[in-house]
Formats: sequence, C-alpha cells, structure tokens
Amino acid sequence: FAGLPTTLAQPAPKLSFEFFPPRTEALEQQLWACVRRLEPLQPRFVSVTYGAGGTTQARTHETVSRLVRETSLTPAAHLTCVGATREEVDAVAQRYWEAGVRHIVALRGDAPADQPVYQPHPGGYAYAADLVAGLRRIGDFEISVAAYPETHPAALSADHDIDNLKRKIDAGATRAITQYFFDTDLFLRFLDRCGAAGITVPIVPGILPVTNFRQVAKFCGVCGTAVPDWLARMFEGLDDDPETRRMVAAVVAAEQVRLLQANGVDEFHFYTLNRPDLTYSIAHILGVRPRPAEAG
Ligand code: FAD
Repeated sequence: FAGLPTTLAQPAPKLSFEFFPPRTEALEQQLWACVRRLEPLQPRFVSVTYGAGGTTQARTHETVSRLVRETSLTPAAHLTCVGATREEVDAVAQRYWEAGVRHIVALRGDAPADQPVYQPHPGGYAYAADLVAGLRRIGDFEISVAAYPETHPAALSADHDIDNLKRKIDAGATRAITQYFFDTDLFLRFLDRCGAAGITVPIVPGILPVTNFRQVAKFCGVCGTAVPDWLARMFEGLDDDPETRRMVAAVVAAEQVRLLQANGVDEFHFYTLNRPDLTYSIAHILGVRPRPAEAG
C-alpha cells in the first residue's frame, strides 16, 4: 500500500453522508444503526434523499426531524420540485423551517418513468434554479444543489449544464454536490470548467463505495457515469464473493479520495446507502476518527 503515509500526513478531510428514508421497520433499524455508527465521525452534515417525484415526502420529513431531535448531527433535507405546485413545495420547505431544519438539497427530480421527456408542472418550479430562488423567499436556508462532472444526461450540452449550475448558485445555492463518478480526471476538468465559468462555491465530490459492481455499472448507464476499465477489472470474478468485494470497495474509494486530496479537494460527500461499514472504514483510512458528541 505504497503512499499510505501520504494519506496520514494529509489533514483529515471534511465529510458529509447521505442516507435514504426507510420503507420498512427492518430498514428503519438499519438506518438508525448506521446513523449511530457514523455520528461520532462528526460529519459537516448528513442528508436524506427524497424519493422519485416526492414519493417519500412524509418519510424524508420524519427521518430529518428525528435527526434534529435525537442526534448531534446537522441534517439536510433533499427536496424536489417535479410534479408538484409551488405551493406544495413551499409548504414542505416551510415545515422543514419550522422543524428547525436549515439546510436543503434543492433538486428538480426526474420525470416519471411513463413520461420520457421532463415536463415542468404548470404551477410548479420548472428547474432546480427556480426552486432555489423560491426557497430563498421562505427562509435563510443553506442550499446545496446537484452537479454533474459528466454532464446531466438530458442537458443540451456540457456548457449549458455548467450555465445551469451557475444559475443555481446565482439564485442562492452555496454548495454543489456531484453525481458519483470514478474517473478523477473528468472531475478535475469539470472543476476547471466551473472555475472558468465563475463558479466559486465548493463543488463537493459524491463518493459511492461500490459494493455491488454489476448493479452500479447498470445504474451508471442511466445516469451517464463512465465505468473505467480498471474498475471493472477490480471486481472481476467477485460476483459471488461479497466479502472480498467489500474490501476492494474500501480500497478503491479510499484511493479515489486520496487522489482527489492530492489535487486539492478536501471535502467529500459519501453515498452510504444506509450501510455504515464501508464509509466508516474509508473515513478511518483517511484519518477521520470518532469524537464524542459535544454536550448540549
Ligand atoms: P436541474 O438543475 O434543474 O437540471 C436538470 C436538467 O435540465 C439539466 O440537464 C439542465 O442542464 C437542464 N436545464 C436546467 N434549466 C434549464 C432550462 N431553463 N432550459 C432547458 N434545460 C434546462 N433525485 C430525487 O428524486 N431525489 C433526491 O433526493 C435526489 N438527490 C440527488 C442528490 C444529488 C447529489 C444528485 C447529483 C442528484 C440527486 N437526484 C435526486 C437526482 C436528480 O433529481 C436528477 O438528476 C434530475 O434529473 C436533475 O435534477 P437537478 O436538480 O440537477 O435539475
């Protein structure tokens, strides 16, 4: 593991973690075990996704509110505007404000599966930039938005997509979190292009520890993420060997973060999939250690 001391010589990176709201009692227990395990790492924030088309509205709200009530963590609620009126979206945001939630991840969301091309709701926020502007009118939220190092699949062009990111920032977002990616060069070039477009807020790479390579590779096709040959080779022959896959996944993600750190990136968002072990061990490799929660 040549180069490990370099990692330890780096200051520990700033981390945030993403969860999804549980659908069943068993998943609920899994989520809260995950939250408790990761809490002592004191991430900058933890975010909770919003099911496609707002399908998890109540569960996202319940999860985020419980994080506020019962943990020392700072939660961020994902909120999409697809398929809803402005009033409906505003009401959800208002309830978050009243529950003490001060950070929203503002997204457009995807068109429903039976609608091939996205159509804004006639009375809704058309795009995430419009949602960001709407949220600004409701409260002084911290607002994060999505960014796509490999370009959003429906964007007219890569330049249009960066213009769109700039509009979201100009509307009031203060951070972008990226779609996951595996090709670090693509991300670094994206950072350069964002800088050239005048985007100065942090662009936090989304890191997906790969536990199920086949599934991830399939999903990459949908979201436009390139699967490098080296990644396929890493998981070759491991379809029936989940134990080894997990160990490989930890090394791959830790190496990805190290490479990004070496290029000046110091903040990372982990897609935990509500499973703490990989995120915890990768964080440990990177020098992040548990700290007791502060009193009060
Ligand atoms: P936008 O920023 O609005 O962009 C969407 C597309 O429209 C882009 O191609 C953009 O270039 C284009 N566009 C923007 N403005 C215009 C315009 N005026 N005219 C023409 N084209 C335009 N989905 C969920 O359902 N729930 C979640 O919790 C969730 N969390 C996510 C978290 C992260 C970090 C990321 C990266 C994605 C997440 N998504 C989530 C997926 C996201 O909803 C989809 O990728 C969606 O298709 C785009 O959302 P957006 O906020 O990026 O949209």
